[in-house]
Amino acid sequence: MILPWHQSAFLELRKMIDQNHLPHALLITGVEKIGKFELAEQLIQTLLCKNDSCGECSYCRAIKKDNPRELLDHSTLIRRSHYPNLIYCCSELNESGALSKEIRVDQVRAFCESLGKTAEELQIGLIFYANQMNMNAANSLLKTLEEPRDNTLIILLAHNSSALPATILSRCQTVHISPTYSEESVKWLSQNIDKTTQDDFDAIQLLESAHGIPFKAVEDLQGDYFFQYLNWQNLLLEIALNPSKATETEIFDGNELQVLSCLQQLVTEGIRLKTIKHEGAQLELNKIITKTATSHLFKLLDDIGRAISMSQTTVNIKLLLDNILIVWSHITHLKKYPIIINSQDLRLYF
Ligand SMILES: [Zn+2]
Repeated sequence: MILPWHQSAFLELRKMIDQNHLPHALLITGVEKIGKFELAEQLIQTLLCKNDSCGECSYCRAIKKDNPRELLDHSTLIRRSHYPNLIYCCSELNESGALSKEIRVDQVRAFCESLGKTAEELQIGLIFYANQMNMNAANSLLKTLEEPRDNTLIILLAHNSSALPATILSRCQTVHISPTYSEESVKWLSQNIDKTTQDDFDAIQLLESAHGIPFKAVEDLQGDYFFQYLNWQNLLLEIALNPSKATETEIFDGNELQVLSCLQQLVTEGIRLKTIKHEGAQLELNKIITKTATSHLFKLLDDIGRAISMSQTTVNIKLLLDNILIVWSHITHLKKYPIIINSQDLRLYF
């Protein structure tokens, strides 16, 4: 079954197959847990199965037997699928049992050699976390990509294409999977959360808290992340309506980045509701946006985005969040939007 948020990416692939334009190398990108492997698996099944991904034939069964999680636990150069002409390659476990951050040249060489052997049927090679190939590994793969063989498909999976060398990128056709908030995805999510919790949760809110990544939403619900997220969200809403609450933010400590993302989501939703002139399910958010100028919400969204990207640097993230929260706590009655200077000394100019 094609996952609802894979539909448009799959349609692109389907078109390539139907028009006989499937490239020799394909790159599937998308954020972590968006289901890049599942899309690749669907593609492989579509290519091999004579009966519309029936799930019953020897090809479909062989591919379904390949458990990628299990694959990641094994320390081997490359791994052959239950379908003999399909090969997987990913980083190995290192001596301490953790997954190495690197795909080495000997792995890629073994991978390319196996693909090089002639076979009558389609040969497929799949590289997980292709951005983890070290320079030598990437160069070795490039040689194979430069002399593509007939009847061979190499699929690379990576979170984003910018992490791959330009030389590799230029040889690949890219298909991207985007995060989703569509009705079909929300429906999929409600069907995939535990029956007992179904009544307690709004699947839309759950998907929003997981940034539009349905598999992450399911996982979040298994831990206590979603509950924490709801607590942050409630406090953020209170702060905008009652600025004195801005001093009671202990629950944000240590979670600054996640709280910034949570606020980003709230402000984005606020702008959306204000633009379509609709009331949302959260009464507090409705109150906040009625009293707030749209331009201020856009400026705040920019500042949050900047704060999130700055958090990757050495800047003190707690101060970043504090400054954003000062603006947020005044957002409903701001006359002029302040300039937040996020340099080494963080200052706020009203
Ligand atoms: Zn089949």
